[in-house]
Amino acid sequence: MKFCSACGQAVTQRIPEGDSRPRYVCDHCHTIHYQNPNIVAGVLPTWGSKVLLCRRAIEPRRGFWTLPAGFMENGETLEQAAGRETMEEACARLGPMNLYQLFDLPHINQVHVFFRAELADLEIAVGIESLEVRLFEQHEIPWSELAFRTVTRTLECYYRDRIEQHYPIGNEYLPPMNLSSPIT
Ligand code: ZN
Repeated sequence: MKFCSACGQAVTQRIPEGDSRPRYVCDHCHTIHYQNPNIVAGVLPTWGSKVLLCRRAIEPRRGFWTLPAGFMENGETLEQAAGRETMEEACARLGPMNLYQLFDLPHINQVHVFFRAELADLEIAVGIESLEVRLFEQHEIPWSELAFRTVTRTLECYYRDRIEQHYPIGNEYLPPMNLSSPIT
């Protein structure tokens, strides 16, 4: 950050009085610009034994497969954000949502939250952010073409838990990878 979003003057970076971390501070209007993690909300949509995946039409990871997910907007609940992303990417409506997997990604200042939900019906279509939308049986999942680590982990947990039909909420910390990876 170079300029204050409140008044347009240059900001400086320093630890404000009573704080413990450096912040962007505006000495003109005295606004402190706090920066906090972003939340990505997503869904693992199912239809019987099948899982819905979307092939991304946008960067990062264009052409790779993902579960519907995206950045939460102000004024939304987590479920609303996950449902909106599913509508945007797969034109799909969901039944009741169950909180499932949470991922801490402190190296990119993100938290990813995935729900499980059965599709409300089979009226799915390619959304504006997708090249393709498809239902996959387990043996059809394109593991080497998944877009993000949190998508891979959510699917791995799902197929592990599905054996017992028991889906406990999981919380994992994903450290940075050695390979350069655009989002996770
Ligand atoms: Zn200012």
